[in-house]
Amino acid sequence: MSKWLPRHWALWSAPSVVLTYVLIVDALALAVIGASFIGLDVGSDDWIRFGALVIGSALHVEAGREIERLRAVVSEGTTYVNLKSMWIFAAVLLLPLPLAIAVIAISYVHSWARMRRNPPYRGFFSASTVILGSALAVTCLRTINPDHQPGFTGGLIGLVAVTAAALAYWLINFALVVGAVLLSNPEANARKALGQLSDQLIVAGAQGLGVSTAALLIYQPWLSVALLITVLGLHRALLVGQFQFAARTDSNTGLANTMFWHELAAKELERAQNNKTPLGVLYLDLDHFKSVNDTYGHLAGDQVLKAIAAELQREIRAEDLVGRLGGEEFAILLPMTNADDTLHTAERIRHRISGLVITVTTPVGDAIVEGITCSIGAATYPASGQSLDILLMAADTATYAAKESGRNRVVTAPSRTPGQLN
Ligand code: GH3
Ligand code: MG
Ligand code: MG
Repeated sequence: MSKWLPRHWALWSAPSVVLTYVLIVDALALAVIGASFIGLDVGSDDWIRFGALVIGSALHVEAGREIERLRAVVSEGTTYVNLKSMWIFAAVLLLPLPLAIAVIAISYVHSWARMRRNPPYRGFFSASTVILGSALAVTCLRTINPDHQPGFTGGLIGLVAVTAAALAYWLINFALVVGAVLLSNPEANARKALGQLSDQLIVAGAQGLGVSTAALLIYQPWLSVALLITVLGLHRALLVGQFQFAARTDSNTGLANTMFWHELAAKELERAQNNKTPLGVLYLDLDHFKSVNDTYGHLAGDQVLKAIAAELQREIRAEDLVGRLGGEEFAILLPMTNADDTLHTAERIRHRISGLVITVTTPVGDAIVEGITCSIGAATYPASGQSLDILLMAADTATYAAKESGRNRVVTAPSRTPGQLN
């Protein structure tokens, strides 16, 4: 479950407090492995289920490999989770502990060999946290439900036992990984160390899938193939979608980036042409933005851009589209909006931005930035042009005119006479 900080490849070059922590966790895991063999009784069903879980986990690692590699890069320095742990949790519910530990070991060695992004000791540590979580989960199952075979007992007691096991498994993993992040990177703030809530939802999802897998393997083993296809399909499709979305948005403001804005704007324009409806385009450039950077620093400048982007989003309708076209330049598309309404919207936006009060972080503490203004150029389809490029150019030229005539104002692009080139 983890991907935590120090970049050193060898464990012994880590700070001694990290070294001690990692070795203690590894030693505890080894002790658990040793103790798990006491009174071991493995039946033929166990071997079949073991084989099924190892194969499921291996196919999952292979199918999601490129996606997981990207996710791992993105989450460098924080906790990192994936759905693959569903096979491990199913093994915890179904198998005698030593076999569940074997599933964990095989899955980690396989992932490590295929990704090779981290020093082996990190993989060993991660596997150790999972082994400790699994041991506690099995203890919960046995304590709450002494009949646990392993397998399931129906009824409420079965649900309570499985829920407690899932919580124990999650809590041990989470706490040990957060501990490692904090020790190896003391300046990491608690929020970064705790990771994102959405990651914990992935863990919850993986555990839910683990319960389903275990139940299918007991009652309808062949149907678990359907579950495998579902999981692999969704894993790939959902994450690819997530990356496509990330490639289309600007990471600081969350707005559509130039490419994506153009793509969507072209579709809207086509619709306006087909339906013979008007469409407004605004081009917005912040005034003297360089001086914000010069006075408060680049980080503060970024925070101002983010606040302005959020304000733009609040000021427009759901069907309008804001994009960040350049550093401090934004474009706004206003479907089904005529020239008058486009001008009104532009004035409203200009007014709203000039009233913004933004708290920013500077090298010497927080500061208040206010009085930011912008110059806006407005163009409308069909009067100012027929194609997106012409419309944008008209709006851009109008912005330039707004700058020339004193800034903090809206200028409307002139109507083109029918004889002009589109
Ligand atoms: P003008 O009124 O003529 O527009 O003056 P200006 O200073 O805003 O000039 P211009 O539009 O050419 O501004 C570009 C400046 O915006 C340059 C750079 O300092 C700043 N800038 C551009 N992109 C970013 C960014 O992503 N973050 C930050 N902090 N600043 C940016
Ligand atoms: Mg500019
Ligand atoms: Mg500017």
